[in-house]
Amino acid sequence: MAELEGPEFGKADFVLLDEVTMEQFLENLRRRFLQGRIYTYIGEVVVAVNPYRTLELYGPPAVERYRGRELYERPPHLFALADAAYKAMKRRAKDTCIVISGESGAGKTEASKYIMQYIAAITNPTQRAEVERVKNVLLKSNCVLEAFGNAKTNRNDNSSRFGKYMDINFDFKGDPTGGHIHNYLLEKSRILQQQPGERNFHAFYQLLLGAPAALLASLHLCRDPGAYRYTREGAQGSACGDDADGYRAVEEAMAVIGFSPEEMGSVRRILATILHLGNVGFVAEGETAAVEDAARLSALAELTATAPGSLRQALLTRTVAAGGGELIEKGHSPKEAAYARDACAKAVYERLFCWIVGRINASIAAHDYDVRLHGKSTVIGVLDIYGFEIFDTNSFEQFCINYCNEKLQQLFIELILRQEQAEYQREGIAWQSIEYFSNEPIVELVEQPHRGILALLDEACLAAGTVTDPLFLASMDARLGRHPHYTSRKLCPTDKTMEFNRDFRIKHYAGDVTYSVEGFLDKNKDTLFQDFKRLFYNSADPVLRAMWPDGEQSITEVTKRPLTTGTLFKNSMVALVENLASKEPYYVRCIKPNDQKSPTLFDEERCRHQVSYLGLLENVRVRRAGFAYRQPYHRFLLRYKMTCEYTWPNHLMATDREATQALLEQHGFQDDVAYGHTKVFIRTPRTLFCLEQERAQ
Ligand code: ATP
Ligand code: MG
Repeated sequence: MAELEGPEFGKADFVLLDEVTMEQFLENLRRRFLQGRIYTYIGEVVVAVNPYRTLELYGPPAVERYRGRELYERPPHLFALADAAYKAMKRRAKDTCIVISGESGAGKTEASKYIMQYIAAITNPTQRAEVERVKNVLLKSNCVLEAFGNAKTNRNDNSSRFGKYMDINFDFKGDPTGGHIHNYLLEKSRILQQQPGERNFHAFYQLLLGAPAALLASLHLCRDPGAYRYTREGAQGSACGDDADGYRAVEEAMAVIGFSPEEMGSVRRILATILHLGNVGFVAEGETAAVEDAARLSALAELTATAPGSLRQALLTRTVAAGGGELIEKGHSPKEAAYARDACAKAVYERLFCWIVGRINASIAAHDYDVRLHGKSTVIGVLDIYGFEIFDTNSFEQFCINYCNEKLQQLFIELILRQEQAEYQREGIAWQSIEYFSNEPIVELVEQPHRGILALLDEACLAAGTVTDPLFLASMDARLGRHPHYTSRKLCPTDKTMEFNRDFRIKHYAGDVTYSVEGFLDKNKDTLFQDFKRLFYNSADPVLRAMWPDGEQSITEVTKRPLTTGTLFKNSMVALVENLASKEPYYVRCIKPNDQKSPTLFDEERCRHQVSYLGLLENVRVRRAGFAYRQPYHRFLLRYKMTCEYTWPNHLMATDREATQALLEQHGFQDDVAYGHTKVFIRTPRTLFCLEQERAQ
């Protein structure tokens, strides 16, 4: 029989609260958190509170407890959700996805790793070698992606600075045979600068503190992160974990994934290149810039396997097309050269990151073998993407991240709330409408063609040269001033929290965020001079060279404007949401209990805010008003007809609906069900559980 929790742990499902109020919700959450019961359901949604301590919840005994069980048979757990997604995939050949959301530090990445660990543990009972290899690569990929894509921030010592969506492909036996990782918008501005107390990406400190002395010397590096401009801020910050251990773990993980020693050498040289680039200084020599330190230049030429002359030229000049197809070299001023150098460092890191993701993907690419043989390979997708962010200063990155969260919230509303109500209406089942907050206007404010913020930003970028950030702000103020979710200081001069010429505010579903418009144009355009691309394309290092296929074009060919960062991000979000919407969704909603990383503090105000903007109360209300399970009559009968004499082996009634009714009445469940036009609806999970037990007898 089911192994459930006693009443002292509160309600395992918020649906069972006496009353759906914020107070009761928080009290239940608090009580469970303090007793180490960090997971609670809302129907099939898992609400998870970050415990900030190690809990004995994830070892092999726990895997065994949840393997093959139904959600309601065991205390709430991520493993139960992972198992449900797995079963849907295996039994019903449904593509499923697990969407993990919550703010920075709420525990999304940890949750995604436990889910993958569980799936790895329950698959491949026959130990097929290729499946084991794929599983290993999938698990080890986390370590590598975290080294290059995560950093210590003031909110989280191991904060993901990129979004990740990972598809795991399964064969007809239900074993993982491949996978694919999509990465979204890496916060590459972190390469240049970090807020006080924050660090650059882990990979730099791991290299400096973990690499053997001889290797460091060959990269012309010293051990001290304080010696490099890009890592100086984080040099004193307490490391999260030991960076030297991290270095070894990443080296091992890369080897398991299949990076060759040559490729790993290139990766280290590229990291060193970025550190050195940061320290390149420029001085004025007449009208133009000159490099301060010749030794650094030759180290850089060696690390990038480029000709020193070409490197110097790319750093100090840019080629522009003059009239008549003629090319001329234009010397940078020291300021321009410094700007170009920083743009180059960011671009090199971004391409390195994308190359690493691509390299992992190549190692686990699903073969179409299964599709050919069995018609289909099924997929479980896991989404771990940056949570909503409000910092003291919010820039283009926060704008993109928060827009992403709006899109995901919209999908959540769409799938869980709206579709639920729409289905009851369609099926003719009595239904009381639930009020919920729709964030559609905010999404529109950002992404609407021609009129949204991203469109206005692109328009401003097109007029480059003449348009500045404040002018872009003025154009937004003029055209969006009346939008209920947009505020500018100009239109609201009494608001002293915003700066006149710099800030605008968006009323997000999760709260108001003031953005500084500074850098929006620049970050959206994301210009890197073709000179750098060509330089790296001509590198003798095959890995570095492979990252710059666009370096082959000559300056006269580079006429078409590349898509802007904002537009690319929007396109990737639209594609992501479409992809998620095509799958059966499972949700994990992560909550951060306090800002002190304390395992015992339940900060009620912080939790109240999160519960509120995640829409969890509405979620409970919809769930309570509704039915936990539904199935078309014929499918229901197929599964349960053997439990009733009227339906086994075949019923003789006029319709499947009548037969279903007879079956459920015989079991005494008539009060827990409703009959729609095409589907039967079952209110509580326990009814289904009993039916399953009948079936097993
Ligand atoms: P970000 O958006 O910044 O990437 P996140 O939601 O991914 O944040 P995590 O990195 O998963 O947050 O969690 C932050 C920290 O909280 C972890 O490094 C770990 O110390 C702790 N933590 C999270 N979940 C758990 C858990 N289930 N058990 C123990 N500790 C946890
Ligand atoms: Mg994370």
